[in-house]
Amino acid sequence: MSEREIQKRLRKSIYFIVCIGILMVSGCGIFAFFLSNTLEEAVTSNMRDETDEYKKRLHKQLDTDLQLLNSVAEILRHTDLTESEAFPELLDQVNQSNDFLTMSYINADGIGIVATLGKEIETGVRLEDLQEEPREIAQKALNGEECISHMFKGDFSQERVFTYGVPVYRNGVADGALLASTHVEIFSDILSGNQVMGGTGRIHMVSSTGKFLIFTNPVVENRPDTLFGEPYLSGESLKQIPEKMERGEEGFFSFRYHGREYRAFLTPVGVNQWYLVCVNSIEESSRMVLRVVEGAGVLAAVMLILFVFVLIYGYRLAKSGNRNLMKMAYHDALTGALNFSGFQKEAKDRMDENSSCSIVTLNIHQFKFFNEIFGKERADRLLKAVGEQAEKELGERELLCRASADQFYLLLNDTDRTVLSERLNRLMERITCSFGEQGDYQVLLYCGIVISDVNDTVYSLDQMLTHVMFALAKARETHQNTIWFFDSELHKKEVMDNYVEGHMNQALQEKEFRLYLQPKIDLKTDALGGAEALVRWQRHDGTMIFPSQFIPLFEENGFCAKLDMYMVEQVCACLRQWMDAGLTPVPVSVNQSKLTFFMPDYVNRLMELADRYQIPSGLLTLEILEGMALENVDALNRRLEILREKGFHISMDDFGSGYSSLNTLGKLKLDELKLDRGFLLEVSKGDNNSRLIMEQVVTLAKGLSMSAVVEGVETEEHVRLIKELGCDYGQGYVYSRPVPESEFTESWMKKAGINQKTEKN
Ligand code: C2E
Ligand code: MG
Ligand code: MG
Repeated sequence: MSEREIQKRLRKSIYFIVCIGILMVSGCGIFAFFLSNTLEEAVTSNMRDETDEYKKRLHKQLDTDLQLLNSVAEILRHTDLTESEAFPELLDQVNQSNDFLTMSYINADGIGIVATLGKEIETGVRLEDLQEEPREIAQKALNGEECISHMFKGDFSQERVFTYGVPVYRNGVADGALLASTHVEIFSDILSGNQVMGGTGRIHMVSSTGKFLIFTNPVVENRPDTLFGEPYLSGESLKQIPEKMERGEEGFFSFRYHGREYRAFLTPVGVNQWYLVCVNSIEESSRMVLRVVEGAGVLAAVMLILFVFVLIYGYRLAKSGNRNLMKMAYHDALTGALNFSGFQKEAKDRMDENSSCSIVTLNIHQFKFFNEIFGKERADRLLKAVGEQAEKELGERELLCRASADQFYLLLNDTDRTVLSERLNRLMERITCSFGEQGDYQVLLYCGIVISDVNDTVYSLDQMLTHVMFALAKARETHQNTIWFFDSELHKKEVMDNYVEGHMNQALQEKEFRLYLQPKIDLKTDALGGAEALVRWQRHDGTMIFPSQFIPLFEENGFCAKLDMYMVEQVCACLRQWMDAGLTPVPVSVNQSKLTFFMPDYVNRLMELADRYQIPSGLLTLEILEGMALENVDALNRRLEILREKGFHISMDDFGSGYSSLNTLGKLKLDELKLDRGFLLEVSKGDNNSRLIMEQVVTLAKGLSMSAVVEGVETEEHVRLIKELGCDYGQGYVYSRPVPESEFTESWMKKAGINQKTEKN
């Protein structure tokens, strides 16, 4: 796995962990939100319950007071006490024995008695003289209604009071009204308890106009007159709450006072449009909620911190692990240099930045034996020494790698051959010296170099790594400290050689070797006098390989013998075709390599082919090279004699191109001498000596009864010259290039046949 991939995975894991972290924290948030909502609801319902409880207590008080009055009214109903003189005194006594401030009795005529605590009993009081609130109550009671008045400031008391009124029935009709007033403080006692909301809440009572009736233990200092205003109601709630009160509904509102938030619950008492207002500080009421939220927040924060810590720690751990892993994955344990994977990676990065560089591969001559002779430990020391010395040689952005055993790679910034040679010679020298001589064993190195851009060709890293191995293979051939630069032309030849050797057998089987023929012109008649068989290798894709690209190789690897015999057979088949077609065949020369020529069964095989195709052996001319005569003239002559006996003609090819000896020529029994095209080249340059030599060679050939053939006849000038010199045949591009057998038959054989026929006619 590459470092980039590991980093990618690491990043993915971090994203994953961060997502989980976010999920957990938001989970905590949602939990806190729901919890706070639930607790909020619990608090509000608690407020409602508590306020209801106080409402019930109020009602109980009112009921008790009304019951007391009703009991007295019941007594009055069944007695004539109201008529008695002692009644005022009696009413006063009753008044003193309960918590009322005043007790009054008004008869059906609107005349009555008023007994007030601490005051003289008033008799003969007229209904119209009463204060407005008790007057209304008295009238309602006389109408048979049981009722309670609004608050009012009584004449008899500085405090605000209210009045109960019950009818006193006689004979089924309301005959009188019994009234009792009491001050509002009776509610204060009930509402001022400090147990509201567990001690944190306050309960007030307001009238329908928002006026505070009971305002004990308030959170707001400087008692405001009404609820309908600052700080209690403002903005939206100032509109909504009075509307709700008008409709007799309950409601919640919040307000802020001295920097604190309060929540209030308003509920109708059910009497006189009085309302109970329960006020509680949000802070207080939500203390538990806050505590839970705080707890959840702290938990989330702790988790987050823990998470971040684990994340950072994990990331660092993974990164350092990753770094170690990378080091192990990309470095060689023995020398500390890069290994091959590391080298490839770094070299690629380096070349992406700047492609100009050279790659060197350095090996130790016979390292295998060094290992065997001196043991692994010393061999390792040697490798370390190579690594150390090479490391010292490195400049900025240059790389060193040990790929395997003794194979080192270097990426160097230089691309100049001289500079590179100097640097590497110095390095090899230093390694040889630093390790010293091992007894009589001298450590020698060899290296191949490839330069990234030569002659406008820019190589990729992969190409360079392949090419450098070819250069190394060349360097290995010498046994000394050697440097070999990769040569692209040489390499192309090597690639072709490799192809040729790898495909020759298959090509022969698949008939990729084709017979081409080049005409030999009789210089006396200017007519076709013969032909030379030349091989062409035509690959399946149509591309052509020429003899110079494979014949030397085949001569080395022995395949030439096979190919030559194959070509002889092709020529025989061709001659047969001509004869079968009624064409007069011309002699065809076939090039024979030394290996073919000296095959033990060579003559037999030739005979066998000539027999098989029913070819007169005189139609076959065997071309040999002058080099064959250099080693053993007698052996060659013996073979020539046999072949000539059998009727074959022999020609010496390329005469004059090598170490030709006129002396040897005299000893050989040949039918034809082919003068190398070099003669014509020299003579065309105006070299008189060459012309003289050529003339002598032709004379000698004639003297030895050989026909003289000149190769490389390219111009009319050449034709004139060779005619002047008295040559017999000319062969060259001026007449025709070598052409495929079929084309030769069409262009030369058939035409020659026609000419012959015309001549006969
Ligand atoms: P070679 O036997 O001397 O053949 C003549 C070569 O000169 C041929 O090259 C031919 O194409 C070329 N040539 C002909 N006329 C001219 C001309 O006017 N100017 C120039 N510059 N060249 C001319 P090719 O076909 O490439 O063959 C090269 C050599 O390969 C032959 O030289 C021969 O030695 C060898 N060869 C060709 N075919 C065979 C074969 O079947 N067996 C063997 N053993 N060798 C062969
Ligand atoms: Mg030839
Ligand atoms: Mg030749």
